[in-house]
Amino acid sequence: MEKIKEYDVCIIGGGIAGLMAAYTIVEQAPKTKVILLEKGRDINDRHCPIVGGQSKTCLKCRPCAIMEGLAGAGAFSDGKYIISSEYGGWLPDFMDREEVLKYIREADDILVRFGATKEVYYPDDELKLMCLRHDLHMQQAIVKHLGTDANLKTMANLITYLKDKIEISTLSEVIDVDITNHQVLYHLSNQERYLKAANILIAVGRSGSRYFQNWCNKNHISLANNQVDVGVRVELPYNIWEHFSKRIYEPKIVYRTKAYHDQVRMFCFNERGYVVTENTDGVLTVNGHSFKASDKRSENSNFALLSTSNFTSPFNEPIEYARSIASLANQISGGSVLVQRLGDLINGKRTNEKRLKESSVRPTLNAVAGDLSLCMPKRQLDNIIETLYALDKVAPGTANYDTLLYGVECKYYSARPKCHHFMIDGCDKIYALGDGAGFTRSLSQAAANGIIVAKEVIKDL
Ligand SMILES: Cc1cc2nc3c(=O)[nH]c(=O)nc-3n(C[C@H](O)[C@H](O)[C@H](O)COP(=O)(O)OP(=O)(O)OC[C@H]3O[C@@H](n4cnc5c(N)ncnc54)[C@H](O)[C@@H]3O)c2cc1C
Repeated sequence: MEKIKEYDVCIIGGGIAGLMAAYTIVEQAPKTKVILLEKGRDINDRHCPIVGGQSKTCLKCRPCAIMEGLAGAGAFSDGKYIISSEYGGWLPDFMDREEVLKYIREADDILVRFGATKEVYYPDDELKLMCLRHDLHMQQAIVKHLGTDANLKTMANLITYLKDKIEISTLSEVIDVDITNHQVLYHLSNQERYLKAANILIAVGRSGSRYFQNWCNKNHISLANNQVDVGVRVELPYNIWEHFSKRIYEPKIVYRTKAYHDQVRMFCFNERGYVVTENTDGVLTVNGHSFKASDKRSENSNFALLSTSNFTSPFNEPIEYARSIASLANQISGGSVLVQRLGDLINGKRTNEKRLKESSVRPTLNAVAGDLSLCMPKRQLDNIIETLYALDKVAPGTANYDTLLYGVECKYYSARPKCHHFMIDGCDKIYALGDGAGFTRSLSQAAANGIIVAKEVIKDL
């Protein structure tokens, strides 16, 4: 029998959290023997048939080129890098905000080293005040816009650098991690393989959150649920929000609805961008991105508008809740996602192909014209409509008849394992990090989490 290979560190997942952990270890402890296992393909081999124009609908490829592969879910993202600990994850639950910010800046310096821009957008108090006057609460941060194209290049440069220093195995899906003997079972191109590592870092992102949750349940690791956000992607002419985007790049606004006292968030703003589909574990949802290059800009901007729910008892499965709403949208759209004009939604009409063609806002995603009220719960739908009218006060035109709503967009955050310095309780030298562990929900905090965990590992090598 072939001898099982042994490593000092095994990183599971090649998203920004895993890559930043790898980078920190090779820089600060260069003799460490590290392997990184990634379920998806190498960054240059990630080709989504929709993006490439070979298919109009999601073919549910495995692995999914958008969510999985080296550089993770962030590979084709818009690359908005938030230099703040105010939002983007829950790392401030574990350490001082100042310390979180220090690691976010450290990660930013690394990205700049590999080609990221130095240009930043600063907060704007005038806009914040204008929002406040309408009970809209703008979250402020220093933001960088890397752009989908430049972000991909930066990540490719970082990966090329790492390839010389550590072993990277793609198309390697981890199936199990034994918490007592640290044996890792993985499938490499569908063949069973084993390895052992003294330290194991689980950085599987949102696409791996179901896997991680099942693994925790199997090993009796207790998990705390996070909130779940369900809503739509809004698309409208770019000039409606230009007075914000020109000054701060990304308006992030929170509103508490009068009808239900629920929190609705406007975020993930993509100026002159595109609405895209996202395949999370077989369920199709929507998202958005935009390019930095001026010749790749659309005439529309888009943003997420999501209503937050926190479940307590007896229901305890927020991820399944969001997945089932999104699955319903997939079913009624014949395996795709829906698009509806706001005016049609308010008037109780389905948007059909004819009505969509009449729309003055031309959709950037080929979604199925339909009726969101058939799949979205009333509470979330009411919240979204009320918030659109509230936003219309600071950006008139937001609640126009032809504003397009794509559904369903949801952000579910993995359940969090109990841990101490990110080492999972009861699992010696097995760490959880990034979006998959429910600690982060942004590039900057996931990157910071990678650095923090790497430093913990190095202390004890
Ligand atoms: C379309 C899109 C746009 C976004 N835009 C932004 C943005 O502009 N700004 C921002 O801050 N954030 C953005 N985000 C969120 C951001 O991408 C994530 O917060 C970030 O990627 C999380 O990093 P991560 O390393 O924790 O996880 P991921 O990036 O998800 O990486 C996890 C990796 O683990 C791999 N994996 C999963 N399971 C296994 C397994 N069993 N075995 C081996 N490997 C496995 C996956 O294939 C994946 O490559 C966006 C996300 C999407 C999807």
